[in-house]
Amino acid sequence: MHDVAIIGAGLAGLASSIELSSQGFDVVLFEKNSYPFHKVCGEYISNESIEYLTYLGVNLNALGVAHINRFSLSTEQGSQMSAQLPLGGIGISRYRLDQELANISKTKGTTLIDNTTVLETNGNKIKTTAGDFEAQIIIGAHGKRSNIDKQLDRDFIKTPLRENHNFIGVKYHLRADLPKDLIELHLFKNGYCGISAIEEDKYCMCYLSKASNLKSGMTFEEMETSVLAQNSILKDYLSRFEKIYDQPKVISQVNFQNKEKGNSSILFAGDAAGLIAPLSGNGMSMALQSAHLLQKEVSSFLNQKQSYDLALINYSKAWNHALIGRFRFSKLMQSVFFNPSLMNPLVKTANIFPPLAKTIIKQTHGKAFFKG
Ligand SMILES: Cc1cc2nc3c(=O)[nH]c(=O)nc-3n(C[C@H](O)[C@H](O)[C@H](O)COP(=O)(O)OP(=O)(O)OC[C@H]3O[C@@H](n4cnc5c(N)ncnc54)[C@H](O)[C@@H]3O)c2cc1C
Repeated sequence: MHDVAIIGAGLAGLASSIELSSQGFDVVLFEKNSYPFHKVCGEYISNESIEYLTYLGVNLNALGVAHINRFSLSTEQGSQMSAQLPLGGIGISRYRLDQELANISKTKGTTLIDNTTVLETNGNKIKTTAGDFEAQIIIGAHGKRSNIDKQLDRDFIKTPLRENHNFIGVKYHLRADLPKDLIELHLFKNGYCGISAIEEDKYCMCYLSKASNLKSGMTFEEMETSVLAQNSILKDYLSRFEKIYDQPKVISQVNFQNKEKGNSSILFAGDAAGLIAPLSGNGMSMALQSAHLLQKEVSSFLNQKQSYDLALINYSKAWNHALIGRFRFSKLMQSVFFNPSLMNPLVKTANIFPPLAKTIIKQTHGKAFFKG
């Protein structure tokens, strides 16, 4: 019997595993893909996570991160604004960051089993494609939407996605001649596209679009030409910048919901506990922070200082206290982004009155959540 079993080795699963293995617990971590691998993500991490990533053992400069401290935005109608980022962030591919965290986790003693899907959990038992396991406590860090959510019959998966709440995410890596200290966000009908520098002179271009933009039989390229290219900046970028890999990374059935933080046999971290709208550039920091909050409660349970039920209550409270405000604000901002009659006047006002942009950006971000 392991002390802890973690489903999913993305940021939340990897951070939890590093913290719990470092405390001497016997941790097994399952990942359905094989490292290293690409993920749909804008790859901009708010600076609020820097100290925590460093504490976990990541040497960010050695990974060649880009340092980003400016922001610009354009609408399909041609309004533009720019602002200094109050906190700023870094650009690094998930391919590289997740691989680095996976290596650290293994050196701390985690049994990381990749290329293995968790099929089912039942009490303390975990059924995977690599056999059956048991653990005192199970963490679900399996991301936005997984077979595990279905198997656990979670509320958010039972309700069919309404067309208006069903999104797709698409990511490319590019060679581009853009400033490396700038993150750009360009709006198009029912979607937005972020572009910023990552390691090795590469750029990440990642967009979120309502699924309804992708008409039946259309390829992603056709959607980009007919919908994204209505924004003249995106039209220029899509035609001019070289794609490093031809096929984009794509995810579907994305929707932004707060979710329950656990049940009688499993505790959720990262996107599995609640998915924030990506315009905030904050999902990765939230995943890391939720993992940090959760490991405290798990550790206290394993050290027999609190019951499982109390661990769930304390974690849910801590999550809500730390993260719910940003979560709600980003959801609201996303609905404004999709409404040109609100967004264009907002951009014009922010140009005349720059503190407005700063205030909005601040609401979507937290403060450094870890002091080493
Ligand atoms: C379009 C888009 C752009 C974004 N851009 C940004 C951004 O620029 N900045 C930012 O901070 N955030 C961004 N985010 C959000 C960010 O990507 C997520 O919040 C973050 O990846 C969450 O980490 P996680 O560990 O919870 O999940 P993930 O990183 O998704 O990891 C979950 C892991 O679980 C594995 N898994 C799932 N099911 C199973 C199973 N049954 N068995 C084994 N393994 C399993 C998956 O393979 C995956 O590796 C963006 C999101 C989207 C949709």
